[in-house]
Formats: sequence, structure tokens, C-alpha cells
Amino acid sequence: MNAILFHEHGGPEVLKQEHLPDPVAQNNQVLVQVKAAALNHLDIWVRKGIPAYKVSLPHVLGSDGSGIVHSMGPEAEGVSEGDRVLILPAMYCGQCHYCQRGKENQCDQFHILGAKEKGTYGDLVLVPDENIIPLPENFSFEEAASFPLAYLTAWHMLMGRAKLSPSDCLLVVGSSSGVGLAAIQIAKWKGARVLALTTNETKKEKVKKAGADEVFLLKDNNTFSQWALDLTKGRGVDVVFEHVGPATWDSSLKSLARYGRLVTCGATTGPSVELDLRYMFGRDLSIFGAKMGTRKEFQELASLVFSGKIKPIIDKIFPFEAASEAHAYLENKHQVGKVLLSSQGS
Ligand SMILES: [Zn+2]
Repeated sequence: MNAILFHEHGGPEVLKQEHLPDPVAQNNQVLVQVKAAALNHLDIWVRKGIPAYKVSLPHVLGSDGSGIVHSMGPEAEGVSEGDRVLILPAMYCGQCHYCQRGKENQCDQFHILGAKEKGTYGDLVLVPDENIIPLPENFSFEEAASFPLAYLTAWHMLMGRAKLSPSDCLLVVGSSSGVGLAAIQIAKWKGARVLALTTNETKKEKVKKAGADEVFLLKDNNTFSQWALDLTKGRGVDVVFEHVGPATWDSSLKSLARYGRLVTCGATTGPSVELDLRYMFGRDLSIFGAKMGTRKEFQELASLVFSGKIKPIIDKIFPFEAASEAHAYLENKHQVGKVLLSSQGS
């Protein structure tokens, strides 16, 4: 098979198209012929070689992918050769304490496809049969590949953890990112009011188009809590969607109404924040961590996406052989929405 791979960690230029032996499906594995793959920031971290993700070289990146079933191992169930499918990128054991309780995202052996074993940037990828979701006939491979990681993370944060309700007002920090746009769309589907922050004037309109009711152009980190209070008659928002960290943390907390919930999945600006416990207990605040999502949540989300109720936002589609160009594009933060690789080209 042809694959986009790298022999050494580094910049976008380390990605090369080369030939690899075809993998063979064993046990319950399914070999998928990849038609489209989406880029995530995780791909960049793995390519650069950050210590949290150890991969054997040469490595094939890619968490999100869709395609056609090429072949199956003898114990694979629920799929047939030629099926159009979408891949759930969460890898889990199915046996441990958390898997048995449907919390696969906290599995003892949890990892993400492409951040340990070889991923979706190739003609063929191996995944367990449980990670295969049937793809409706009329749904494009590109749209399918665009949503699993980012949208499942946002779904788990808002629905699984913060329990967003239609009467809530949500503040999305870092709203023009893949996960931020997903949060806006999910919250609007749920019927909540959405306030959104972005740091880029040119992205403001696109954030609004994604469904945000009010968008604030963030130039001074200290000002957005006052903006959120002004727009909620001084009460504050019910839920803050965070993934930025120290740069926005204080204002995020101060934007919350009493009984407010803050949910976070990231630490883009650093891992440590200050927390005044008196402020937290005095206002009945809750802080939720969230990591990716569960298998059941993925099925719920996929059915909404497949029925057109939530429409993933795609920014740009590159051919697979232009993967290094696509990585540079993502790293330069030009995009509003998902960046994809497709065997159909751009
Ligand atoms: Zn497990």
C-alpha cells in the first residue's frame, strides 16, 4: 500500500509518500481501504515527537478516517467486504473496569488511532470490528471523516459532562478551532444560547455562521468576563467550554453564573492554573475534565450527523500526496473547520 509516513520527527517536510507492505486483518480486525482522513492537532504533536505519544518509526499518522471494508479477520463481526464505513478512533480493551461500564474513554489501555499504532494516512488501516460504524450510502467519505475526534470530544464535554440543557447559556472559548466550532453546532442543535470568543477578526464571521449568537473578538484576556456578564444581565453563563488554559482560565471562571459548570479538554497555553477555592465553593461552581468520548456517545453523535442535524464544517480538502502542505496549512492556523486528505483530491 501507499502511505504518508515519517522516518524521523520534525516539521511538515518529514511526511513522505512511500510504499509499505499491506497489513493483514487478524482475529476481530477489519482492514479498511481509506478514502478520506481528517487532520487533527494531535497529528502535529505526534509528528513533532512530543513525549506523551511514543510511536515506532516509520509511523503513519491519522485518527479520523472513512472508507470501504477491504477484508476482515476470521472473528470480525457485523461487517462485510465492500461496506462503506466510518472509524471510531478511540482504541480500548473492552474488558477493564471502565470499559465494562461504558466509559471506554478512560480504559486502562486507552489510546487514539494514529497516536500509537499506524493510522489513517494510508491506503489501508487496521481497526477492531467494534470501531467500525456503517456509513449511509448518501453520506460522503470526506464529511464522515471530518467529525469523529473533534465532534466527539465536544459532544462528550457538553452532553456527557456539563449536561448542557436548552435553557443554558454557553460560552465557547477558542471558538474557531475544530472542537470550538463543534461545540457551537452541538449547543445550537440542543437549543442553548451561545456566546463565542475568537482572537481573529477574519474568523469572526465564520464563527457566527457556525451558529454563535454573539461573538467577541478577544484582544485583552481580562475583558471577556465583563462582556459575558453584560450579555446575561449580570448573571453570567451557565457553562464555559474551555480548552485554552491559563491565558483564559480566570476570565472563564469569572464568566460563570452561580451553579455554573466549566468543562475543559485542553491546555493549549500551559498545564497549570490558579483556583480560588472560596470563589468555587461560594458560588457552587463545578469543574469537569473531559477526554474524547465513549462508544455510545459516538453512536448518538453519528446518527445526528448522518441525519443532517449537525453538519460538520470542512475548511479545505487536500489530496493525500499533499499531506505536508496540509500540515503546514493547519499549523499556520488558516483554517476555520476541518482540514482533510482525500483520495478524490481537492
Ligand atoms: Zn478497557
